[in-house]
Amino acid sequence: MSDSDAIARMHALLKAQKSAFEAERHRPVEERKSDLKKLEALVKARGEDFATAIDADFGRRSKAETAIGEAGFVIASAKHARQHLSHWAASRRKPVPMTLAPGKAYVRREPKGVAGIVSPWNYSMQLALAPLVAALAAGCRAMIKPSEFTPRTAELLHETLSELFNEDHVAVIEGGPDVAKAFCALPFDHLFYTGSTPVGRLVAKAAAENLTPVTLELGGKSPAVIAPDFDLDQAAKTIAWGKYFNAGQTCVAPDYALVPRGGQRAFGEAVMREADAMWPDVAGNGDYTAIISEKHHARLTEMVEEARAAGAEVLQAALDKEKAGNTRIFPPTVVIDPPLDSALMREEIFGPVLPVLGHDGLSDAARFVNERDRPLALYVYSKSSATARDFLARTMSGGAGVNLPMLHLSVEDLPFGGVGASGQGAYHGETGFLTFPHERAVFEAPVWHPSRMVFPPYGKVFEFFKKLQTG
Ligand code: NAD
Repeated sequence: MSDSDAIARMHALLKAQKSAFEAERHRPVEERKSDLKKLEALVKARGEDFATAIDADFGRRSKAETAIGEAGFVIASAKHARQHLSHWAASRRKPVPMTLAPGKAYVRREPKGVAGIVSPWNYSMQLALAPLVAALAAGCRAMIKPSEFTPRTAELLHETLSELFNEDHVAVIEGGPDVAKAFCALPFDHLFYTGSTPVGRLVAKAAAENLTPVTLELGGKSPAVIAPDFDLDQAAKTIAWGKYFNAGQTCVAPDYALVPRGGQRAFGEAVMREADAMWPDVAGNGDYTAIISEKHHARLTEMVEEARAAGAEVLQAALDKEKAGNTRIFPPTVVIDPPLDSALMREEIFGPVLPVLGHDGLSDAARFVNERDRPLALYVYSKSSATARDFLARTMSGGAGVNLPMLHLSVEDLPFGGVGASGQGAYHGETGFLTFPHERAVFEAPVWHPSRMVFPPYGKVFEFFKKLQTG
């Protein structure tokens, strides 16, 4: 389909979804649960097909990592939402101040209408369907624009979701940046965007034109900070796992490590040993994922070469290119002390390259982190919970992990989102559910309410009320 056809189709779909929403308005909770159950069943039934499509899109994607990072995640999230939906969707009673009694105050959690969801390529199924879980749970309708870098996954999302839902309920729009741009300019009732910070800025501007509320799930440079009391080898194991899982193409992967000064090389070597133990022979190892495109691969090479040319030491796992047969495998890499003005330390890396720098104590590390944009995640390693919490108190990030990277995002009841340049808004669990409804405040008064006694002309009762109000 040409871009102009896709754009015409999305306008028609939005119109259809809006009128279907107006006709139904409050989708009963039991029907929303059944929508989620259908989605769960789809992911279970077609999980293998999605894994094959994602593998083809990446040129090689670890089947194990796809299982837990894509289908497993969506199934857990849909199940959790189903189990808690009756409670989440119920109205909330609020206390009424004495001066306004009698009456009832409550908040109705009402679906906003039609949600637009824009998803990236790195977890091409999860990041399209997890926001959909929240939107469906809230009783919204949704249009999804998946990334152009994973066209097979996008096509399969389109095919399978249109078998499951009418297009006036859930629809998928395929296309590249021009289609994405037109998509974000549509007057959705909520726009949920996951992707890079630079594109996130454009999305926020487009949404502002329509006063569309927007959730921005962006990226950034997530640091892993090791306190002097923590064993470097132990930290190396989990940081290597977080960094090289999906070949570093994870928004919450540790971007760089700050270790007690003098320990950079020993730590870098330990990371390489751990990477080799987890992903030996990356060329022929089906569990080591490829880089999404030639362009992304070339960017990583340039970043490492720039740091090397500036004098940084590069440790890199061996890669038998002939055996790899896939030019997009980028081996696990550590760069010791890259210059702070190099691309490696300016941009989110989003690949299997770990810069390792030294710090002169946790105050110095906190200063380093605070001088930069607020990251999506921050990891601190310490044997002392008090030390770790003190470090958290001195810094800010979207989420955080103590002694373990990434897994905070798998706790459904924890809100997941960024702060500052790493995003705004959050989702997962009840926080995700709350993204898509409007919390409508209602004060329900009896037919005759005493407040009318303080209407003008103002007299003695008004004076009495004034005193009551201010105590
Ligand atoms: P991207 O910003 O290039 O693309 C994301 C989506 O935006 C795609 O669907 C694309 O078609 C669309 N897009 C492109 N140009 C657009 C425009 N002008 N207007 C509107 N939409 C446009 O991001 P990416 O490379 O696919 O993903 C990688 C980035 O996403 C990284 O920065 C990563 O940290 C971030 N990310 C964040 C999260 C999170 O939950 N916070 C999760 C995954 C990835």
